[in-house]
Order: sequence, then structure tokens, then C-alpha cells
Amino acid sequence: MNSMDSTPTNFLKTIVENDLKTNKYDGRVHTRFPPEPNGYLHIGHAKAICIDFGIAEQYGGLCNLRFDDTNPTKENPEYIKAIQEDIHWLGFDWGDRLYYASDYFDKMYEYAVQLIKEGKAYVCNLNEQEIREYRGTVKQPGKESPYRNRSIEENLDLFERMRKGEFEDGAYVLRAKIDMASPNMKMRDPLIYRIRHAHHHRTGDKWCIYPMYDFAHCLEDSIERITHSFCTLEFENNREIYDWFLDELRVYHPQQIEFARLNLRYTIMSKRKLLELVEGGYVKGWDDPRMPTISGLRRRGYTPESIRNFCERIGVAKSESIVDLALLEYCIREDLNKRAPRVMAVLRPLKVIIDNYPQNRVEELDAVNNPEDPSMGIRKVPFSRVLYIEQDDFREEPPKKFYRLAPGREVRLRYAYFIKCVKVVKDKNTGKVTELHCTYDPKTRGGDSPDGRKVKATLHWVSAAHSVNAEVRLYDRLFTVENPLSKKDDFKNYLNPKSLEILTECKLEPSLKNASIGNRYQFERKGYFCVDPDSSDKMLVFNRTVTLRDPWAKIQKAAEEKKINKDWSAEMRNEATNFQQNSTGEKFAPTCRDAFSHSDESM
Ligand code: ATP
Ligand code: MG
Repeated sequence: MNSMDSTPTNFLKTIVENDLKTNKYDGRVHTRFPPEPNGYLHIGHAKAICIDFGIAEQYGGLCNLRFDDTNPTKENPEYIKAIQEDIHWLGFDWGDRLYYASDYFDKMYEYAVQLIKEGKAYVCNLNEQEIREYRGTVKQPGKESPYRNRSIEENLDLFERMRKGEFEDGAYVLRAKIDMASPNMKMRDPLIYRIRHAHHHRTGDKWCIYPMYDFAHCLEDSIERITHSFCTLEFENNREIYDWFLDELRVYHPQQIEFARLNLRYTIMSKRKLLELVEGGYVKGWDDPRMPTISGLRRRGYTPESIRNFCERIGVAKSESIVDLALLEYCIREDLNKRAPRVMAVLRPLKVIIDNYPQNRVEELDAVNNPEDPSMGIRKVPFSRVLYIEQDDFREEPPKKFYRLAPGREVRLRYAYFIKCVKVVKDKNTGKVTELHCTYDPKTRGGDSPDGRKVKATLHWVSAAHSVNAEVRLYDRLFTVENPLSKKDDFKNYLNPKSLEILTECKLEPSLKNASIGNRYQFERKGYFCVDPDSSDKMLVFNRTVTLRDPWAKIQKAAEEKKINKDWSAEMRNEATNFQQNSTGEKFAPTCRDAFSHSDESM
């Protein structure tokens, strides 16, 4: 155990530390990350990954990667590959412990037979609708199935015939015989196996019955000799059934411990819902930079460090909360501020002609690569007679507090000269400003005036003849409301129509000519950007990772002023979310999911 570790503690770590003290699992810590391969991982999974792999790492233990592939119809090898790639990218590794729930189908079948033989499971003919009716409600106990007291022999025979494929989907199910009056609805004779004539990506056509999540998951944990089985809060009510199966089967028994899911404002965290966006063409794919998926964030320019840092900062709690996107953005800015080189790029170009600058002259000026890190050095940027600046750095009639370029006004060009606007050229028909004529003061080379006169603005610029063309994609939040899944109508009605803006006339300084895919930069005054894989020899494409504007700094400052010197991530966590009660009385976070099943577990 690494007691020197500086990462903050949380209630999960406290449990692990106590178990280590009492030698509960012979001093072992063994966790697992159990994704269902029915989609790409999202930032919520990153939180779980940081917990599962992170805790194992911190206490010298192991963490398995286990694909929870008990649902043959939803699984896809593309997801299995992508999930592994994402975990590795985040910086975690499962070594040689890559498992599949389907590896244990034989064993699970044997355990089911054992339950039948001990009178603790039965084959039931009720259909899905009837099972639901018989289950009762939170206020009313359920009714026992008329098939509950079948003989052990008959149950064994029917279960065997289910396995052999003699029956249609849904004709029978295997159920645990527990208690139809249990206050916990999950304990009212839960399903163990259902018939599903479907091809499985690993076991092929060997099986036509598949185990349900509640039966399978605890056995997977037990077989792998997991010590701490961390999962999200919606499985709280499943813990009793987790314990019941392992106790009744008298097998090795890990401990299930629940923590709160991560929910982020203005986005959604559900693979199933994200799949709808992909399939419906609302986004360009799972890795669309607007998606909250790990692959989307990666493509957008997020670093693994920033995501891990974010997961650390949000902490781990026992109650649901919703986290502000600003915190995630704060984490990536903090990281890129230190390591992304700064360059000049004009996104919406306006041509500037320096009338008194010689026609064919080119000067190479020194520019600092990152003032935060002098070791990153300096580079040369060419300056010449025709330049580009941003359209919105000029106003013909500047409003109050607009200090940038305007007719008759002088500003500084970064690393270059003071220039003064002497003439504005406009399109005759549209009245749009098409170019500016300026003069420069040769004595201000490098950006300072020898006579001590001041200017109020410094603009970035690019030399027109040397510039590199690029496409730049600007992203905004994917949804227009904080919690799209809490709405009564379709969450897709709340997609932000302006979540993507494509600029195709951008002009970059020449040092970017050979930028390669994935490279990250700060475009001075504009934000952090990275090179998108859509780039070709003909055209560089950049994604805006995040703007420079930092609302989070403001929030922090305001909090400090109010003398709230509590841990600020705790502040975020405590932001109230309203719990909702669904018909079975189960708690679930309003953003997320139906709490009934792990996955689509209809019979
Ligand atoms: P989804 O609804 O997005 O499919 P899931 O819970 O069904 O999510 P799994 O593939 O079963 O996804 O999840 C693997 C692990 O990740 C589980 O332990 C689950 O609890 C955890 N997890 C999923 N979503 C979140 C989240 N938003 N925050 C924290 N952990 C999460
Ligand atoms: Mg799921």
C-alpha cells in the first residue's frame, strides 16, 4: 500500500483500508471494471475506471477488465475494441486479465442447476406481462407464480430442455425462489435465465439461454475472486440479491459497494441514448467531438491527464449530483496552458495592408512558444505588407470599452509593430468591410514604443503570403438544457442546433504547416485547438477543444470572496439534484436511466 500517495481519500478507499487492516481478503485488493459492450465509453465510465483501476493501483492490487457480455443482441466487436483503446488511453492497464462474462456460461449453468436441485429455483411459464403483474408494487406484496412449486425433477427437465433449444423465446424463464412479499422488489423471485435464440459474439450458437445480470454479475465477481465490487448507486437494491445468490451457492463472496454516478450538465450519460444520436445521424459518430464519450473528448483535444484530474476533483460520493461542464473545461485549460505551444491563427480573416511597409520585404520576428514554460523556446514568424487580423478586432464605429482597431486608432500587433488604421475599404453593394489600410511605426519593432506612448490592445495576426489555410470547427454544448433526460418529451428535442460551427477560411501562421493529427495548440486569444483526423495534405482541420474564457475562475473567485473555504469540489458535488421516485420506489438520478435493469433485459 502506498501510504505516501497524495490523492485525496474517499469512502471507498476508507473501506479498502479497513479491510486491509483486518486482513479481510488476506491483504488482497482486486477490483474489476465491467463494461457492457453495447456502446463506447463516456466520461461517466472514466470516473468508474479511475475508481476501479485507480484504487487497485493505489493499494498494490489488481483490476480486471471484464466484458459483461450476457446480452447477445446488443454486443458488437467494434465496441470491445474501442473500450480497450479508451482505457489504455486513459493510462490504465489490466495486464493479462481480460475476461468475458461469457467465459463463465458453463459454470453459471451449473450453478443454476445447483439452485434447482436445492429447491431454490424454478422454471416459470408466466409471460413478461404476467410476471410484472404478479410482482406487486412497493406498497403491495406480490403473488406467487402458479409454477413456483414444481417438483425439482420437473424443473431440472424443463431447464435442460430450455438449454437444448426446445422452446421459443419467452416461453419459459428460470427464477430464483426467494420471497414474493419482500419489501425489496428485486427479491421477488427474480429471473435467472431467459431463452434467447441469438448468436453470441463469442459463444456462437452454443447457448440459447442467457443468464440475467443479477445472477451473472455476482458469479463473475466470485469466480474472479474480486474483493471490492464497485458499482453505481442504481444497483443499491441489487446488493441484496447479489449477496443472496453467493450465500445460497456457498461460494467466495466479494463485497458490492455503490457510489454515485457522474452526471454532467448539458449532456447525457447513457450508451443507449448516445447510440440513438449516432444512429440517427445527429452527430457524426461515437467520436464526434461534441459527444461526452472518451473517444469524442480525445478527438476534441482533451488529454488523459485532464480527464483523470477531473475525476479526482469531482470526488466520490454516496449521493447523486450533477457536475458543471465548466469544471471539465477548467481541467483541460489548466493542463494545456502548461504544455500547448502558442501560435497565431486568424479564424475570420480581415485583410490589412500596411501602406508604408516595403512591397517585397519580409521580416522574421521572434515569438515566444509558451510564456508559462521558457524551455519551450521561441520561433520565427514572418511579417510582411499584407496581413490578416480577426474581423471582430476591428469596428468602424467602436462602442465604449472596445479598445481594438478602429479608424484613426493605433494598436499593437503581437511580437511586431504598432499599426494605425488610416482607411477602410468596403464592398460597394453590401457595405461590408473588405480591407483596412494601416501604417506602421518602424520604431515599435518587437511591440514597444521608444517614446513611451501606450496602446490599449494587442492583436494577433498572420502574414497573408505566408499563411496556411485551414478549416476550424467550433463546438458548443450538445444540448440546450442542463438535464435533457429529465424532460417529458424526447431528449433529442433539446439538441443544440448551434453545437457545431465550421469556419473554412481560417489563416494560420506558417509554423503550423506540418502539424500532425492530434497536435494541440493555443491559438492566441482564441482558445485551445487540436488537429482533427479529417485533415489531409490539402487542408488542415482543427477542433476547438475549449475557449480561453474561464467562467470557472470567476466562480472560484466569487466563492473565495464569499469566504467559502470549503473544498470546492465538494461544493460542486453538493449541488442539489432532485431525486425522483419511480413506480417501484427505487431511487434514480433524473438524468440517467431506468433503474430496473442493467441493460435491455426483457424476456
Ligand atoms: P450506460 O447506461 O451508459 O450504458 P452502464 O452503467 O449500463 O451505463 P456499463 O457498461 O454497465 O454501463 O458500466 C460499466 C461500469 O461503469 C459500471 O460499473 C457502471 O456502474 C459504471 N458507470 C456507468 N456510468 C457511469 C457514470 N455516469 N458514472 C460513474 N460510473 C458509471
Ligand atoms: Mg448498460
